[in-house]
Amino acid sequence: MSEKIFDLAIIGGGPAGLTAAQYGARAALSVLVIEGAMGGQALQISELENYPGIFPHISGWDFSDKMKAQAKEFGAVFKTGMVVSLTKQGSIFSIKCPDADFCARAVILATGCKPQHLGIPGEEEFAGKGVSYCATCDGPFFRNKRVCVIGGGDSAFEEARFLANIANEVTLIHRRHEFRAQKAIVQRVAENPKIKIKSGFVPLEIRGNGTVSSILLKNVDTGAEEVFETNGVFIFAGLNANTEIFTAIRTDERGFIITDENMATSIKGLFCAGDVRSKPFRQVVTACGDGAIAAHSAERFLEES
Ligand code: NAP
Repeated sequence: MSEKIFDLAIIGGGPAGLTAAQYGARAALSVLVIEGAMGGQALQISELENYPGIFPHISGWDFSDKMKAQAKEFGAVFKTGMVVSLTKQGSIFSIKCPDADFCARAVILATGCKPQHLGIPGEEEFAGKGVSYCATCDGPFFRNKRVCVIGGGDSAFEEARFLANIANEVTLIHRRHEFRAQKAIVQRVAENPKIKIKSGFVPLEIRGNGTVSSILLKNVDTGAEEVFETNGVFIFAGLNANTEIFTAIRTDERGFIITDENMATSIKGLFCAGDVRSKPFRQVVTACGDGAIAAHSAERFLEES
């Protein structure tokens, strides 16, 4: 067990966690950030273009880098590790990682989300062999090839635009004729000559021989099945909250952590910020807002306890 007791431990190093780290450290709290080795969803953003005041756009990687440098400048300490358990004994939280344990008087969970899988035949078999959940990571393997994107949300539309800079042809396949994505992003995709939109098709099976060669689709209007030839299938079917190790916390029916407006969870001294929180709008800017509020609430909690 670590001898040092931090005022505030933040689990997760995405925009929410990094903002909380900066605010907490700047308020003179001793702050520890425990971040996973893989980085969060924000690192996958090729062009962050809607963060107020940052214009022209910045990559998710550069944005995260700057936020981390800023938090460190104010005194936040960073450790890399996957948290395996979080428990509270008396008023102290104990955080276990495979190689080290940490203690803190308050904790902010900012663990983000992971991609939802489709659960169709071929998806697991061809993962890394044509099936991907990250265009920034895997897009360059599909230079001058034919790829499709599954989903009708912001991620699918934004990643289709990114892939259009690399692949020969991009087809966005969505199961309905209406899209969840913001209208401005849909409009930009509609105007891109390299992107085709195929709406009203459900993916049934990913096929290939060693690598992906096609996807079997079902037309929701006619029920007819068709084979769509493609070298890559990029899946953006939504997100699942990373909450596996925090079993005692109240969540909504989709597994996202419920907080009040101060980012407080159902456990005293435990706060939550960013995409892992139950909320209607997941953006980098809303994650940062959550992080600032969570750090402020943690500071007040520490003052009062
Ligand atoms: P999302 O908004 O939940 O969209 C997921 C899409 O996948 C939906 O269109 C859904 O179809 C489809 N889908 C789900 N399961 C499917 C299945 N089994 N087969 C076929 N299609 C399936 O997820 P997201 O796009 O990853 O966005 C997550 C959050 O991040 C959102 O709050 C989003 O606004 C935010 N985000 C924002 C930005 C930005 O502002 N720049 C960028 C990326 C993400 P239905 O529509 O029919 O349900």
